[in-house]
Amino acid sequence: MQPNTASRPDISPRHIIIGAGMAGLLAGIRLLERGETDFTIYEKGDAVGGTWRDNTYPGLTCDVPAHSYTYSFAPNPDWSAYFAPGPEIRAYFERIARAHGLHDHIRFGAEVARCEWTGQDWRVVDAKGHQDRADVVIAATGVLHHPKYPDIPGLADFSGACFHSARWDHTVPLDGKRIGVIGNGSTGVQIVSALASRAARLVQFQRTPQWIMPVPDIRYTDEDRRAFHDDPMRIEAVRSGPEAQARRARFTSAIIDAESTELAEIQGIVERNLEDSVTDPVLRAKLRPDYRAACKRMVFSPGYYTEVQRPSVFVVTGSIARIEADGVRLQDGIFHSLDILVLATGFHADRFVRPAQVLGEQGIDLDTVWRTDPTAYYAVAIPHFPNFFLINGPTGPVGNFSLIDIAEKQWDYIAQLVDLIRCGEAHAVAPTDAALAAYERRRREAARRTVFATGCDSWYLGATGEPQVWPWSYAHFAEAMAHPRLDDYALAGP
Ligand code: NAP
Repeated sequence: MQPNTASRPDISPRHIIIGAGMAGLLAGIRLLERGETDFTIYEKGDAVGGTWRDNTYPGLTCDVPAHSYTYSFAPNPDWSAYFAPGPEIRAYFERIARAHGLHDHIRFGAEVARCEWTGQDWRVVDAKGHQDRADVVIAATGVLHHPKYPDIPGLADFSGACFHSARWDHTVPLDGKRIGVIGNGSTGVQIVSALASRAARLVQFQRTPQWIMPVPDIRYTDEDRRAFHDDPMRIEAVRSGPEAQARRARFTSAIIDAESTELAEIQGIVERNLEDSVTDPVLRAKLRPDYRAACKRMVFSPGYYTEVQRPSVFVVTGSIARIEADGVRLQDGIFHSLDILVLATGFHADRFVRPAQVLGEQGIDLDTVWRTDPTAYYAVAIPHFPNFFLINGPTGPVGNFSLIDIAEKQWDYIAQLVDLIRCGEAHAVAPTDAALAAYERRRREAARRTVFATGCDSWYLGATGEPQVWPWSYAHFAEAMAHPRLDDYALAGP
């Protein structure tokens, strides 16, 4: 059954959007485009941009091509590079938010603490006690958002500057310092690449090696940018031309099928990259993973292997025993003296809208529902939480395709469900338990065939060790998001 929203009068539901990052801004813009002005975006920070506001570390770059990491309705011919630097992306979101007048709808410094379904609507309370009501809540709270601090003894004893990569302290001078970086995910690799030439000594503490996918370091010239201005089809070609489509299809086939030829090709590329780039066999051995390429989230880097071979850079693979006032002590007793310690140790990827308390029908607590692993029907809606929708929620294709494209498609899907409320067809919309269970059964079975299930630890895995991922193709995602299947939803009458 498909939504039939043609005939009824227009009701204008009030929306509350949680988060003014990429997805929350998108939701606001789309509402304004529909002529809906009765909405508020709650943002706990003091500026828009989400992850691009929080992450300001040296070397921050988006490893999705800039023209693809752009709203479809707001192309940006002025990107400075094929992979845009973080500050430029943040400025893009700020510009777009202003251009659409979104600041009139944003409450900054307002962290949503609680959402409660009253049976009629949502009662939303922020951390300062401010209360609000809404017919629809959109949780656009991001995925990699809550910093994960390592549980290493003595961390608080370090006397130098010590901060998480997503809480960079820009008052700390870096040049000529002895810098330690714990972690070698996408973040640690970007930080090390940026600081290797600036530090007197840079020590990267590596617990597990990472496969590195080589990517070109393409800076756009004035001429390139003029060409993008003059001919928007050039932008479209980068976004979704045959080459971009083929690349997405190749990568997706590789990750959703661990036995695919596409994954074997990727394996060949990353192995060659390591063999051809790192000359010292000892360092090469340290950097060689013993698991499949793309099992952990693939790290894309144009220059990591070059930077890590500088004489002032040390990759340390021994396990850390404790942090002391002046540095890091390994289990074998070796001590690394440091002035600065950077924790590039990742994020709690299972939080989503939490720690906000979300109470659905009959007071059911989302934290209880998600006790083992967070789930959502097609990653966007949850049984017994009517009119509560997630963008980039659990089991979505985060990391598979451009997150902006994903968010836009999810919004289009959610908007069709909200249309049922607008048109008076329903007052409350939530998927059924049976629909979520069937989706999860299919998804988990498919997820076991993905590369994420081939025997490495990563933030893709849930508490049970199973991949909490979207295990199907881009085409499947686009098709699933094109129209909600209303048979899978419980609609409460107006
Ligand atoms: P991450 O991929 O989770 O990496 C965390 C790193 O810290 C890993 O190397 C991990 O080692 C290490 N670590 C954690 N706890 C540790 C401990 N107690 N002792 C020693 N090492 C420890 O986090 P991330 O690098 O911040 O990246 C997270 C995700 O953000 C990425 O996968 C990506 O999706 C996204 N991201 C994207 C971009 C982009 O350009 N688009 C840039 C940065 C980040 P183990 O591997 O052994 O666990």
